[in-house]
Amino acid sequence: VPVKLVIVGSVALDDVKTPYGAVQRGLGGSAVFASLAASLFVEPGVVGVVGEDFPPEHLALLKGRGIALDGLEQAPGKTFHWTGYYTGDMDEAHTVRTELNVFAGFKPRLPRDWQQAPFLFLANIDPDLQNQVLDQMQRPRMVVLDTMNYWIETKREQLLRVMKRVDLLVVNEGEARQLSGERNVVRAGRWLLRRGPRGVAIKRGACGSMVLWGRETLLLPAFPVDEVKDPTGAGDTFAGGLIGVLAQGGGLDANRLRRAVTVGTVLAAHTVEAFSVQGLTSLQSRELIRRYRYLASQRVPTWTLRLRLEKRRRS
Ligand code: AMP
Repeated sequence: VPVKLVIVGSVALDDVKTPYGAVQRGLGGSAVFASLAASLFVEPGVVGVVGEDFPPEHLALLKGRGIALDGLEQAPGKTFHWTGYYTGDMDEAHTVRTELNVFAGFKPRLPRDWQQAPFLFLANIDPDLQNQVLDQMQRPRMVVLDTMNYWIETKREQLLRVMKRVDLLVVNEGEARQLSGERNVVRAGRWLLRRGPRGVAIKRGACGSMVLWGRETLLLPAFPVDEVKDPTGAGDTFAGGLIGVLAQGGGLDANRLRRAVTVGTVLAAHTVEAFSVQGLTSLQSRELIRRYRYLASQRVPTWTLRLRLEKRRRS
């Protein structure tokens, strides 16, 4: 099967602390969460690099999910290592340390037959790398881009350059504000749209998401989870699920986008319920489908509102 979806991003070992506990050197990285989520719908290919210390069982886990690893190099040195923690309502990740390690000198080289893939997800990683991967693609039908504060602060210009070349930008509310300098999310979203992408999906944590697509504005609720243990990877899972559904086939309109965003939302809810990738790897398809149906049923039926105001005017 030719790879339909290429994902470039970090493949990491994470040290994470939350009010629910801690994990050391847990499997993480934007490309890992995204590819696990997308692998429910297509066979994605991962572009990235790991060090000599990367446990072989992690590679086996990814392979076992049908994720192609021909684009994942193993280089001398240490794997990307992120250390972070969450407090309170765990709305935002606090970074203690970002050790790029093998990613610092990484030059991505796409396997030849991946260059024709119709879908590309530029998951959170150095915007220079995102640009280099995009350069090697022939004519992707759809390119989705994610990033985070670290790159907004250190490589803003490069990030704005890659933004010009993508179809859909996925960011969280804080990042949208930081990039645009606008406090209001709607204004921030419009600012981002003017920078090139056809659409912008803004993730708002427990408040769900807002998607601007052309002239449409879609609002989607989050799935209510009663125990958030570790939010790490929620954003990557959301975007990976979203593009996985789109890559599975069909055209792109507001309804398909709504479906894809709903799937991404439900998958993200699974990710935050456990540490590292456990929420995704232990996921039961029945539960996923139940949650998807529940969220999809939340649309308000249209009705003609009968306002007393009208009556007053008539008489
Ligand atoms: P998320 O919680 O979805 O924003 O992503 C969390 C994942 O991003 C973690 O597993 C980290 O390994 C990874 N990560 C953290 N900082 C960076 C960075 N600067 N570049 C790429 N990936 C990162």
